[in-house]
Amino acid sequence: MPTYNDYGIILNSYDLGESDRILNIYTKENGLVRAVVKGARKTSSKFSGKVDQLSCCYFHFASGKNLDTVCDCEQVNSFSLLRSNLICLTSAVLFLEIVSNFAHEDEHDSHHIYDLLYVSLNRLQISPNPALESISFISKFLSLHGYKPQFETCVSCAAKTDLKPALSGSYPYSSILGGILCSNCSGTINSKSVNSQTLNILLNAGRDIPIEQLYNKQSLNNQNKNIRSVLELLREHLDVRAKNKIKSFDLVFSL
Ligand SMILES: [Zn+2]
Repeated sequence: MPTYNDYGIILNSYDLGESDRILNIYTKENGLVRAVVKGARKTSSKFSGKVDQLSCCYFHFASGKNLDTVCDCEQVNSFSLLRSNLICLTSAVLFLEIVSNFAHEDEHDSHHIYDLLYVSLNRLQISPNPALESISFISKFLSLHGYKPQFETCVSCAAKTDLKPALSGSYPYSSILGGILCSNCSGTINSKSVNSQTLNILLNAGRDIPIEQLYNKQSLNNQNKNIRSVLELLREHLDVRAKNKIKSFDLVFSL
């Protein structure tokens, strides 16, 4: 049976038979890997504590016809700080569900998504604002998949938009098409109005600048409503493009 090694983060898992567990793992080199861990639920298992959701491990796999097998694994990061904070943990589960919904087996270039997920989970552990961290993760994730919301030109006719997010005002935005509409197209295509503060947060999220450098504590307190609007906008954007609706948003919004 051929074997291979890879780094991976456990997206989710489910029980199989009396004591086995099946893992969906997002790996650095092979994209989505579905693998069984034999005897994982036995108290004496050598995998105990290592193969939970969110755990990052260096795996040794044996390839199978339908399902690979985890022969061994060494835990690299358990993200223990995330597990002790409900708001951070909920955001982390959101990241995993989003990755899971776009993941495929034998993906090329999966290391970009893997690295983004790993770095974002690490940052989330110590983030002053999990909601903004989520916006940053989702924006970068969408960019890597080529699904970034479009602002510079009209998403329908490609005419240049008069976007000036530094000023006040609002803009027509189509979630289905995934971007801003020009004044001509906004009359014929369903859109919602997005204010300039919301757009500013979204534009900042794509930049690789830590949240604490972009916003001070006071300005963050004033932005809560706009931060939520951005998350709602990104939820609609993802739901149109993902395999399934992203359910973890319900929990994120309920906290
Ligand atoms: Zn247009």
